[in-house]
Amino acid sequence: MDAAALHATLLALDTHIDIPWPSGPDFFADSPRDQTGRRVDLPKMRAGGMKAGCFAAYVPQGPRTPDGWGAASTRALAMLDAINAMGRDGSARVASTADAIEAAHRDGATAIIPAVENGHAMGEDLGLLGAFRAKGARYLTLTHNGHNALADSSNPRKDLGDAETLHGGLSELGREAVGELNRLGMLVDISHVSKQAALQAAMLSRTPVLATHSCVRALCDVPRNVDDLMLDALRDCEGMVNITAVPSFVRPGGRGDGVTVSDYVDHIDYVVKRCGLAHVGISSDFDGGGGFSGWRDASESGNLTAELVRRGYGAAEIAALWGGNFLRLLRRAEEAADAG
Ligand SMILES: [Zn+2]
Repeated sequence: MDAAALHATLLALDTHIDIPWPSGPDFFADSPRDQTGRRVDLPKMRAGGMKAGCFAAYVPQGPRTPDGWGAASTRALAMLDAINAMGRDGSARVASTADAIEAAHRDGATAIIPAVENGHAMGEDLGLLGAFRAKGARYLTLTHNGHNALADSSNPRKDLGDAETLHGGLSELGREAVGELNRLGMLVDISHVSKQAALQAAMLSRTPVLATHSCVRALCDVPRNVDDLMLDALRDCEGMVNITAVPSFVRPGGRGDGVTVSDYVDHIDYVVKRCGLAHVGISSDFDGGGGFSGWRDASESGNLTAELVRRGYGAAEIAALWGGNFLRLLRRAEEAADAG
């Protein structure tokens, strides 16, 4: 199989990309990575055969106070506007349903899928989730580093006064948020979330839960990665993990130049063997810490397909890994939302 020819046909979708904030290089210009540090822009996506990407309105954890929540929601809404602006060019368009993503692909347009990273962005106001959805957001990452009003994080922030646990998993508000996300057709993302909260969310959600950007703890033992029990819970709820390209999550102590595409695909292989191919996907976390030798920016994405072909994956399997599985989850969430 010709990997490059196959890659060109795929609806290759990256489930987690950050954007520079408050300002950065133009999304529509090809910024030299070594000068600007930017790993994703439209020309790089096109050069790398990337057809779609989830772009996160990321909010760092701050004080769990009305002022802290106000600042967080303001930032998230402004970032969603900026992400929407990336889709207002003929060659890129905001696509926030599975059908719209596939239609963009058919039309040769790059699909921009908005998302929100860190439930801190809604503070204690469930109504903000509807405002995020109205701006196209298709998933909410329940936490970032640090506990918030919804859930415990895998990485407590001692500098913010966090103890090991705040809620014992999800808070009551967090449980309500999961119900509201289901109602809105937004996916529940457990990347960054504590093990307890992740297992609770997987049990509670009416739709499949996913980790949009995490690696496997059995291969790289950091709290941020998903362990075997979490993997099994993601499989049992018909969800998935999207392996991510942050070097220190791929290999213990890993740095960009010491981690390879082969190391990354080892994580894919692990989940395929344990849970099945339907429960794995691909994410870069570019512009948020992701990138290593061989997959330094979006233009090099074909190297992953080449490694998957080398390991014996077939065309249909590679298409599922590169987005097909994630589209299945989006559809499940859309059907559940429609059903009320
Ligand atoms: Zn993240």
